[in-house]
Amino acid sequence: MSSLSSALEQRSAGRCELCDTAANLVPFTVAPKEGHSADEQVAVCPTCLNALAEPTAHAAHWQCLTGAIWSETPAVQALSYKTLSALTGEDWAAEALESVEFPENVVSWATGGTGGETVIHKDAFGNELAAGDAVLLTQNLNVKGANFIAPKGTLVKKIRLVADNAEQIEGKINGDTIVILTKFVKKQG
Ligand SMILES: [Zn+2]
Repeated sequence: MSSLSSALEQRSAGRCELCDTAANLVPFTVAPKEGHSADEQVAVCPTCLNALAEPTAHAAHWQCLTGAIWSETPAVQALSYKTLSALTGEDWAAEALESVEFPENVVSWATGGTGGETVIHKDAFGNELAAGDAVLLTQNLNVKGANFIAPKGTLVKKIRLVADNAEQIEGKINGDTIVILTKFVKKQG
């Protein structure tokens, strides 16, 4: 395992930049950047490093990101954004993402773009969807896990776009945040 560059050592001051734990830190490169400098890396503790390998299996640990997203370091913001976005179905993660206005370069970094390509979400009729839009369900939707069927015509307010998948959005139905396929929604207004 490589050790921290002096720039990262200085920036982190010995504390994990994600969970703020004092530990033996290692550099983590925030893809798709290649880690050429400390600006493209985050100093993380062994716990975070392990959890980063499979974010959804460590959802509880990632509560720490509700603090890290306020970092002034773009790499830390991008990694926090990326990790929180991976936690689909976690209400608190969606809310944390909504609570911060991320700079555009951070969002495109976190969503895997090198700046060029963007994922465009469209409803069943080809209308472009944006975060915060309201949509109607065009089919009955069987909500797995929550054990109910959301009927066709259900209004879902304030949707969120799934960053790396043009066919998925997230929205709240009956208080549960669920993933909805864009081909089963119609944009309102
Ligand atoms: Zn950590």
